[in-house]
Amino acid sequence: MASHHSKVLILGSGPAGCTAAIYAARANLNPILVAGLQPGGQLTITTDVENFPGFAEAVQGPWLMEQMQAQAENVGTEVFQDLIVSVDLSKRPFVAVGDSGDTYSGDTLIIATGAAARWLGIESERTFQGFGVSACATCDGFFFRNKDVAVVGGGNSAVEEAIYLAGIAAKVTLIHRRDSLRAEKIAQDRLFSMPNVSVLWNATIDEILGDSNPPSVTALRLKDTKTGALSDLKIDGLFIAIGHTPNTELFKGQLEMDEEGYLLTLPGTTQTNIPGVFAAGDVADKIYRQAVTAAGTGCMSALDADRFLAHHGQTAKVTAE
Ligand code: FAD
Ligand code: NAP
Repeated sequence: MASHHSKVLILGSGPAGCTAAIYAARANLNPILVAGLQPGGQLTITTDVENFPGFAEAVQGPWLMEQMQAQAENVGTEVFQDLIVSVDLSKRPFVAVGDSGDTYSGDTLIIATGAAARWLGIESERTFQGFGVSACATCDGFFFRNKDVAVVGGGNSAVEEAIYLAGIAAKVTLIHRRDSLRAEKIAQDRLFSMPNVSVLWNATIDEILGDSNPPSVTALRLKDTKTGALSDLKIDGLFIAIGHTPNTELFKGQLEMDEEGYLLTLPGTTQTNIPGVFAAGDVADKIYRQAVTAAGTGCMSALDADRFLAHHGQTAKVTAE
């Protein structure tokens, strides 16, 4: 068991955490970054990324994240492969305990633990993830130009995804397990007015069907929730939009969050309700949820932490247990 102290402790190695690390390191703050169970974050489970600026051609998500972490390390970030299991934010330095037994402390703390898309939980969903099954229309919709796609879900996200896709795909089918949507009425009205959108009510996805070499989706096996009858719907892509869960369990009772668990920050900043604790990326953003916006707020969090340290200075080192 060892203790590690830094002026800036960063939790999370997605675009937000890596960008915070790059800025903090270049400000001579010698940041420590704890990578978590998914080193590189959500982009490591996708293939082509076409909307991260700076690359004329599509880049692979895992490669992009390797580069981001290498950049952070090259400018002076120390990266630890550990999962934080508890935090004490009651006083400075803030203390985080890793699964390894190591203790990490920071005069400031940047939380960049992201959010996880909820999945249906069927096996074929995993088989075709990144090959026709996606949880992000803004990210992957472009790959389905003039093709037929389906969206599953009945909330605002599903309706927004369907509306977005209607501008790209030939045909969009929204699949919902009940007979009414929970999305706002105004969004529903917009959706229902789109000529290439139809809604399949009272249906769940039993199986995603496709080819294996190369992997691609060809159809959905649907189950009628009222009759149990099975039917097939031909599609080229499926977008899962049944909600996200922010990774904030650790901070419950210590940091202010909204009713869904997203961390709350002072508008226009990354400052949480505890001075010196900052939140960046998807963990505090249920609207945009993009790599570039996560990187943007990651940058803001490091600048906010630097300013905080300039006014409040360093704390004493936490001694080894
Ligand atoms: P994340 O990327 O979610 O990273 C969170 C990090 O926190 C991870 O490293 C994790 O290990 C760490 N962590 C979590 N809990 C702990 C803990 N307890 N201790 C330590 N570390 C912890 N966006 C785009 O802009 N373009 C795209 O093409 C695109 N495609 C996508 C495809 C898919 C399949 C998915 C799921 C998302 C896609 N996105 C895309 C969205 C994008 O990936 C996210 O918006 C972005 O990754 C958010 O970055 P983040 O740094 O906030 O968090
Ligand atoms: P949500 O409101 O929780 O909706 C999730 C939807 O997915 C529900 O319709 C739910 O069905 C369905 N669902 C859940 N699990 C499922 C499963 N296993 N199989 C099939 N369907 C499943 O989530 P969200 O749409 O992501 O929205 C989250 C929050 O963000 C909401 O407060 C929303 O208003 C907000 N938001 C706002 C905007 C906006 O204002 N523009 C945009 C996006 C999101 P049931 O209806 O049957 O439960």
